[in-house]
Amino acid sequence: MKKGLFSLFICICVFLCGCYYSQKRSATFFAMDTVMEISIYGEEKLLGGCKDVIYDLEKKLSVTDDKSDVYILNSNGRHTFDEDTLGLILRSIELCDLTGGAVDVTVYPLVKAWGFTTGEHRVPENGEISSLLSSVGYKKVIVSGSEVSLQSGMAIDLGAIAKGYASDKIVEYLKDNGVQSAIINLGGNVCALGKKPDGSPWRVAVENPFGGGYIGILSVEDKCVITSGSYERFFTEGGKTYCHIIDPSTGYPADNGLVSVSVICSDGTFSDALSTALFVMGKERAIEFYKTHVGFDVILVEADGSITISEGIENTFERSADIPESSFEVIS
Ligand code: ADP
Ligand code: MG
Repeated sequence: MKKGLFSLFICICVFLCGCYYSQKRSATFFAMDTVMEISIYGEEKLLGGCKDVIYDLEKKLSVTDDKSDVYILNSNGRHTFDEDTLGLILRSIELCDLTGGAVDVTVYPLVKAWGFTTGEHRVPENGEISSLLSSVGYKKVIVSGSEVSLQSGMAIDLGAIAKGYASDKIVEYLKDNGVQSAIINLGGNVCALGKKPDGSPWRVAVENPFGGGYIGILSVEDKCVITSGSYERFFTEGGKTYCHIIDPSTGYPADNGLVSVSVICSDGTFSDALSTALFVMGKERAIEFYKTHVGFDVILVEADGSITISEGIENTFERSADIPESSFEVIS
């Protein structure tokens, strides 16, 4: 009898613990220049841990905080990095190379000249652009041991990759702490950890770049959906619109008919780098890149409203009712 009661007590404890951990807990906060929302099925204190992961990265990677490692590198031309940040820089350089320099972490002098760092937007003169372009080129970054050095005039910005990397770090932290189900939204870049507790996949809405709702919903599990677009950060001058993604081969904002690119992949860092790179490449080159590389899916949205998705997500992407079938294409 005593043994029976004890078993019952254990069962109730296990049940209550289950309820406690399977409760959804969310935190919304502002970091890395965007609104972040993290929802986990796990202990409340882990949300604080997630915030610490983000704040710690922001402290190291910010291009504007004069105490950050990246800022110090950019002002001194050389800096010694901790193992993790060095790893990120090396990975970023690899991704610049993989994309033929479409994403280039050394494009920062141009991002700055166009005023995207300060919000004081301007159209630089052609001469200024060509002179700044001579300071761009990831191949010129020298890494020796844990020291990174840059030539005079050069500066790096991991902004095109940092949020994807941050979501990978959060997923790693949550997994290490036993969380099996979470959804991490870093300014519209979403990463799903596992499935929902009921066993169904997470449903991630892909924003409509023309405003008003979304173009569709993706069902995902252990994947990130990361989007780069021209519709969020841009300015207009002389009737022309300039977006915050710069084509490192010209020094001008990318302007090739794409308005947004989403990359779906289990690796957030890769997704983030690729979404920026494919946006710079434009539709034809992006499709060519997709066909010659593995491990990811894409959604390309053009200025005329056409949507192209890759075949890997054909069955998991639910097109919104207001998107006509005629403007929708699947690439294989
Ligand atoms: P977001 O940060 O808006 O989600 P992205 O991941 O595409 O979008 O990153 C864009 C940011 O990356 C820009 O704000 C700028 O700081 C930087 N950037 C712009 N163009 C490039 C590029 N071609 N390669 C690398 N970084 C870029
Ligand atoms: Mg990116």
